[in-house]
Amino acid sequence: MMDNTLPSQNAGLAALEAQLAEDLSLLELPAKSWVPRRQHEGEEVRDVVVIGAGMCGLTATAKLVLSGIDNIVTYDAAPEGQEGPWVTFARMETLRSPKILTGPALGLPRLTFRAWFVAQWGQAAWDALDKIPKNQWMDYLVWYRKALDLPVKNDVRMTSLEQEGDLIAVTVEGAETGRILTRRLVLATGRSGLGGTYVPEMIRTIDPRFWAHSADDIDFDALKGKRIAVIGAGASAMDNAATALEAGAGSVDMLIRRKEMPRINKMTGIGSYGVVQGMHRLPDLWKWKFFDYTARTQTPPPRNSTLRVSRHENARFFLDCGLESMAVEQNELVIETTQGEMRFDFLIAATGFVNDFDGRAEFANFAPFIRRWKDGRETPEMGRPRASLSDAPDLGPDFEFREREPGSCPMLAHIHCFNDAAMLTHGKVSGDIPAVSAGAERLVQGIAASLFAEDVETHFKNLQAYDTPELQGDEWVDATPSLHEGASV
Ligand SMILES: Cc1cc2nc3c(=O)[nH]c(=O)nc-3n(C[C@H](O)[C@H](O)[C@H](O)COP(=O)(O)OP(=O)(O)OC[C@H]3O[C@@H](n4cnc5c(N)ncnc54)[C@H](O)[C@@H]3O)c2cc1C
Repeated sequence: MMDNTLPSQNAGLAALEAQLAEDLSLLELPAKSWVPRRQHEGEEVRDVVVIGAGMCGLTATAKLVLSGIDNIVTYDAAPEGQEGPWVTFARMETLRSPKILTGPALGLPRLTFRAWFVAQWGQAAWDALDKIPKNQWMDYLVWYRKALDLPVKNDVRMTSLEQEGDLIAVTVEGAETGRILTRRLVLATGRSGLGGTYVPEMIRTIDPRFWAHSADDIDFDALKGKRIAVIGAGASAMDNAATALEAGAGSVDMLIRRKEMPRINKMTGIGSYGVVQGMHRLPDLWKWKFFDYTARTQTPPPRNSTLRVSRHENARFFLDCGLESMAVEQNELVIETTQGEMRFDFLIAATGFVNDFDGRAEFANFAPFIRRWKDGRETPEMGRPRASLSDAPDLGPDFEFREREPGSCPMLAHIHCFNDAAMLTHGKVSGDIPAVSAGAERLVQGIAASLFAEDVETHFKNLQAYDTPELQGDEWVDATPSLHEGASV
């Protein structure tokens, strides 16, 4: 692994930024600002507000700005440089993704992770790099935002949404407090941003001193010498188990319901331009088949994360080990499993996330109207309902929410769900690194088209009013009079 502590070559980075500026200039980017400004009762109206400045929010913001939609602002509740999971609850050493992915670069070579890396540490270091250290990915995202001078405000949480005429009123709290009016809203709020962490009911009833979700802020030092159970077999299960072991946990038992560990990363295996551009146009049944199959076969944890656990002698893997009941007895967590009774001091539930708009106060005004796949998209041919898919929002072609009852909340058409929850409708273009640029392009094309259509009268008036001549009138001589003259002779 590359030594992440090597000082970067700032001269190289400055040169890269100059090249990026040159590339943007050659491509005439950012495009000229073109959306007519609006006011509402004397208040400024934004064209777009983006909530979330993680990878998806930054890519969407960049694409908006480059497309000449620049009266926008992006808010993130996290402090600058701590957006998303990378330096908070992501406990892996490196990304799972291969280093060559171009991710958020939007087709601009100088905006890639590779360009950023080589500019600072050189080609030999790039060749030697195996996977990208997770903190370094965060550093790259911080640079990306600065290099494009994106309008991001940190430490600002969106706390509620309301309709205000044909606009959306966004209430924010934190470093900025108040209400912002916007014509379009993009929710780039990440995996937990439309719902929350998923914890099985059996665990939720236990005193919270005895358990945490893998995305919680866990005090691993307090787990020194303790007996830990980790529920799950995904990447986060391994990363949390490894972190506990490295922090000196007495033992870590992985309790895995499946008889076999999933071994094949199916969707990655068929990744292609066709999948990226074609999935969202497939009939519902095909979309369902792809994602139901991958949910069933499951994504394996990365090999290096699994080895990071299994190299510890005090780590054990219990497969075919389902949870039957759980209780706290004399300061011990007693778990009845399909393999018998087990006793622990602490449990980490690496059990994923859910889409549950109803559970989030900030969506209270819109959640009841949001159409999900279970509201009529599912058909008997899709087989057994699967909650993780059935609860997914049933989105339109531009990631916009749709109404459960037509006419009940037209404003939903102006709220775009650019996060993991869009996967069933749009494919994996708004959550993971590989196709985030394609997702942002689809999103911004849709927003641009709908803003243009909404302002069509203004654009037509502008067409009529435009009076800058290209021809001065002295470029030609009208032959018609001489023709007439000839005819009369
Ligand atoms: C541990 C972990 C490891 C991963 N590793 C990989 C990998 O190797 N390769 C890969 O392709 N993908 C990976 N992923 C998946 C995916 O790339 C990441 O989840 C990525 O962070 C998604 O970006 P995002 O912008 O959608 O969400 P996030 O990065 O989570 O950003 C969402 C942002 O929204 C903000 N936010 C949410 N609600 C509000 C609100 N109400 N007001 C203001 N701000 C708000 C949050 O503060 C957050 O910063 C990983 C995911 C996790 C959890």
